[in-house]
Amino acid sequence: MFGGTMHTGPCLCHFAGTAPACSPADQSGGGPSPASGGPVDRAVLEDLAAASRILAAQGVVDAFGHVSMRHPDAPDRFLMSRGLAPALVTADDIQEFDLNCATCGGDQRPSFLERFIHGEIYRARADIHSVVHSHSPSVIPFGLVETPMRAMFHNAAFLATGVPVFDIAEKFGATDMLVGNSEKGVALVKALADKPVVLMRAHGSVASGPDLPSAVFRAVYTEVNARIQHQASAYGGPIAALSPEEGVLADAVNMKAGQRAWDLWRRTVQL
Ligand code: MN
Repeated sequence: MFGGTMHTGPCLCHFAGTAPACSPADQSGGGPSPASGGPVDRAVLEDLAAASRILAAQGVVDAFGHVSMRHPDAPDRFLMSRGLAPALVTADDIQEFDLNCATCGGDQRPSFLERFIHGEIYRARADIHSVVHSHSPSVIPFGLVETPMRAMFHNAAFLATGVPVFDIAEKFGATDMLVGNSEKGVALVKALADKPVVLMRAHGSVASGPDLPSAVFRAVYTEVNARIQHQASAYGGPIAALSPEEGVLADAVNMKAGQRAWDLWRRTVQL
């Protein structure tokens, strides 16, 4: 899918000159800012920025949360907004990172503290090309209780193989709950394992996919699925959720039909 060739073109951002230093927020140990993986089409940056606004419009993110995508030409680079409320993101806000989550090309604008969620997932999972982190409210209870989240309907088929919960306290004790360094990102990825979604105890969740539209689709329907499971649980009886086999079959359809949702949502956030 990727050529694997590392380009040495200019950074995505419009800062001229040679890279002086890492972003002030960089926690990867200092040193020179890594080189860019190469220029990215403006349309790609606009789609990524639109994904932020879509997730805000759909109630998945509010003032917090972020979406990223792997660099189209450099698998060891990824793209994500600078630290900014998702509804405000435009293409000019996109930064490029290496997998240690240092900004490329000398971009010194402040970045999201939890960018390590994204960097460590891209490092560990070659099949994942887009990641959404949110605190979408209906999902939070399933990170607190023993009842697992299950796939309530076909749009949420990607949940049918199981939804793990990452408890940051298991390895790190009492923390600020944030995945603010690589070590915590690695622990999160261990909990994610081979699944598309992981819940984060008393914090939020992460949804991922093989491309940007599918990650957005999964983030939206993880939140919708949580609402439906709360409603179904109110009746008190057993819940006839999708089986893992049904999940595989339905997800294959969603990966194509989901484009319709992207086309709709993309238009609603047109600038
Ligand atoms: Mn968070």
